[in-house]
Amino acid sequence: MTTKTAYKKHYVAIIGGSISGSEAAKILAENGFRVVVFEMNKLPYGKIEDGLPNWHINLRNRQIKEIDSKLDHPNIKFVPNTKIGKEIDFLDLATNWGFSAIILANGAWQDRNMPILNIEKFIDKELIYQNSFIYWFNHKHEPDYSGINYVVKNNTVVIGGGLASLDVVKVVMIELVKKQLLIKKGIDVDLFTLEKDGINKILELYNVNFEELEIEKASLVYRRTAMDMPLKSPKDETKERIETARLVSEKLLNKYLEKYLFEFVPLSVPSGFIENNGKLTELVFQNVLIENGKVKPIENSFFNIKTEMLISSIGSIPEKIEGLHYEYSSLKMREKADYHVFGFENVFAIGNAVTGRGNIQESKQHGRQMTEKIMDKHLTEEAFELWLIHHNNQIKSKVAEQLDGIIKEISGAKIQPESILNEIINKTDSIHKKIGFTTYQNWVNQNMPIRLEEILKK
Ligand SMILES: Cc1cc2nc3c(=O)[nH]c(=O)nc-3n(C[C@H](O)[C@H](O)[C@H](O)COP(=O)(O)OP(=O)(O)OC[C@H]3O[C@@H](n4cnc5c(N)ncnc54)[C@H](O)[C@@H]3O)c2cc1C
Repeated sequence: MTTKTAYKKHYVAIIGGSISGSEAAKILAENGFRVVVFEMNKLPYGKIEDGLPNWHINLRNRQIKEIDSKLDHPNIKFVPNTKIGKEIDFLDLATNWGFSAIILANGAWQDRNMPILNIEKFIDKELIYQNSFIYWFNHKHEPDYSGINYVVKNNTVVIGGGLASLDVVKVVMIELVKKQLLIKKGIDVDLFTLEKDGINKILELYNVNFEELEIEKASLVYRRTAMDMPLKSPKDETKERIETARLVSEKLLNKYLEKYLFEFVPLSVPSGFIENNGKLTELVFQNVLIENGKVKPIENSFFNIKTEMLISSIGSIPEKIEGLHYEYSSLKMREKADYHVFGFENVFAIGNAVTGRGNIQESKQHGRQMTEKIMDKHLTEEAFELWLIHHNNQIKSKVAEQLDGIIKEISGAKIQPESILNEIINKTDSIHKKIGFTTYQNWVNQNMPIRLEEILKK
């Protein structure tokens, strides 16, 4: 148990409380650092709550329990409903709040733009992005759900190739089959059963032919082949392990195709669309080949797929926060640094916010390894003294500015660590008061959404 006397001087702000943020917070708290975790949502479950489709019940519950046990620590203040870049300006946080280090663990929440010229005019009509689609799927049963309501259409095209795109195409097929089974056959099967047993087995069980449902299958279009899909990570980087992982990925995809009855269209990239009366009706694809590991379009080799719904699942990028620097779609890091953010002495990044990809284990591991490095190299006593001098100089020059150039003797106005600490506590307490936050556990209990599986049990 950490005692008050064991506190380290640094006060650290973490932006985002999910997989990587909670891992960092726990490590820091257990090492005697005081931490504030700012989270834009009510609850700190990130992609676990809003990204993984809700049939991952055990995985979700396990991860949520783990995040809760990490964040519910006396050295951690959890500040929900507070988006950095919106409720609090990032530069204000970095310069005025008194944190001697900031760790960005804000994940990747902005869908990568679909690279088809002018396709954006169909957004939230015929074009849907993965993040909002899965958010709808996971939350539409909640009594207070007020987001967009999507209706899944026949012939949906999903573009992508990662784990997430498989989840998306599964959602599409499960939604279509569930609806048509009820309409055409009066059979009501819940989505958890369809997902677990597979659509093929359920149709067999009820003696229904797929054709009777009058569903036109969804297509998953990928620019590479099934073997290239990152469905299985190699155990190490040896040629044999990589080859084994590629074969497993292909096998897994075939299993999915058999269970969920969608089409797979490999080696194709989107290049255009056809519209009719302002509605998207067809997508144009170009065939490609893989040359030396690179995707190479084949000249004059195009084909069309009729569709009323395109779901883009080509990856997420970090949402830009004003005050930080970005290079293309990634957060700009210091040269060769794997965690140190460009332009700042004391700002770091971990998890999807910097990797832009990966799974839960990888994000957790990245959070852990980087936090240990940050702690060893940057959260030292000397680093704190340097930061304190810098912080006091900033305050001095600000006071001088405010006094309109009048030269004043303000060396006595040095801010001491205890008053910095008190200011952080006052500011976070006032947010807590405003939103009615008492303890972490109470807050979680008050705000945990109702689960679909609980509704179905009733
Ligand atoms: C559809 C889908 C399916 C997936 N399936 C799997 C799977 O089956 N298995 C697996 O292992 N992995 C899966 N993953 C990947 C996994 O979910 C991520 O790798 C992991 O959750 C990343 O953790 P993170 O903490 O870096 O980011 P996130 O989980 O994205 O957490 C970031 C947190 O920061 C908060 N935040 C963001 N911006 C701000 C801000 N400005 N201010 C304050 N707070 C902010 C967010 O609300 C969130 O809580 C899947 C991902 C998706 C999208």
